Amino acid sequence: AEQKKAPGIYDVLKIAFDFYRAQLKTAPAAIDYFKRRGVTGKTAAKFGLGYAPGGDDWQPLKAVYPDYDWNVLLAEAGLVIDKEESKRRYDRFRERVMFPIINQRGQVIGFGGRVMGQGEPKYLNSPETPVFTKGRELYGLPQARTAIRDHNRVLVAEGYMDVVMLHQHGVEYAVASLGTACTPEHVRKLLKLADEVVFGFDGDKAGIKAAWRALENSLPEVKDGKELKFLFLPAEHDPDSYVQAFGREQFELLISETALPLSQYLLKELAGQVDLTMEEGRARLVHIARPYLDELTQAPILKLMLGKRLAEMCQLSSAEFASLQVAS
Ligand code: ATP
Ligand code: MN
Ligand code: MN
Ligand code: MN
Repeated sequence: AEQKKAPGIYDVLKIAFDFYRAQLKTAPAAIDYFKRRGVTGKTAAKFGLGYAPGGDDWQPLKAVYPDYDWNVLLAEAGLVIDKEESKRRYDRFRERVMFPIINQRGQVIGFGGRVMGQGEPKYLNSPETPVFTKGRELYGLPQARTAIRDHNRVLVAEGYMDVVMLHQHGVEYAVASLGTACTPEHVRKLLKLADEVVFGFDGDKAGIKAAWRALENSLPEVKDGKELKFLFLPAEHDPDSYVQAFGREQFELLISETALPLSQYLLKELAGQVDLTMEEGRARLVHIARPYLDELTQAPILKLMLGKRLAEMCQLSSAEFASLQVAS
């Protein structure tokens, strides 16, 4: 008989992916959960959504490679948790709806699982593994790739459901940064994908905080010729709830009419911290803004223009502002 190659971490993740997907079809509570949230069957198929019932025997693995000892791979892939004290092993994902995270090569590299009712944590993600680094991956990228190219635009949201529902409503250039803030590595990746990057986080305090962190992480990565924008939703909305309430056209209108370019967001935010009617306030604005401008090492044109705008706001001539630059 033909000898099967020893399986690896991608194999175990792929088998888990198929298993969770198949389980969804026979789990009325999970089907009902997605239905209640407005997810269609077509969307569930596009994102490979699934259900993890919880149960520790991993029969699906045994069926594929009956003689293989899966213990090491299951742990490496982050699918099980070993409890030191009790010497017991548990499935990481139990009774959760599942969002597979797939890389650009189409390989399953991890999962996010959501509780269907109340319960903590609301989302559980795969741990860092040899094939999954949170600060690097973008959820939904394989599904969004074509639309990102066609629109020359990529939108970054916070969550799985934001991506899933944006796509369902036709905003197919949406990806998510997986709960972690947008890292410099995320920004680098995003800027390679399209000339326009729109950060579209939740309208709540956490979302606003995430937007500012994204700005800070973006400054060293921005290049002239690229446009970074920040969309601020009404406080009670995230992209999922907004697009379900108002539709694609309104969502895209909100981007084109209200999203703040990075430069405006930066100046508005910093100017809000000072009193521009006072010399001290204007001096302080120059003082606090300069370190941010200095981060723009890859965007000399934008840096120059921001400096000019900053000088105007502080009632300095460009020559005076430039002399300050030299002096410091
Ligand atoms: P839903 O609409 O299903 O309630 P959400 O995406 O709106 O989810 P948020 O609370 O806004 O949920 O969180 C945004 C994202 O942050 C989630 O999609 C998830 O990726 C991540 N996240 C949220 N809570 C946790 C958690 N407890 N642990 C890890 N990641 C989390
Ligand atoms: Mn949130
Ligand atoms: Mn939500
Ligand atoms: Mn949210």
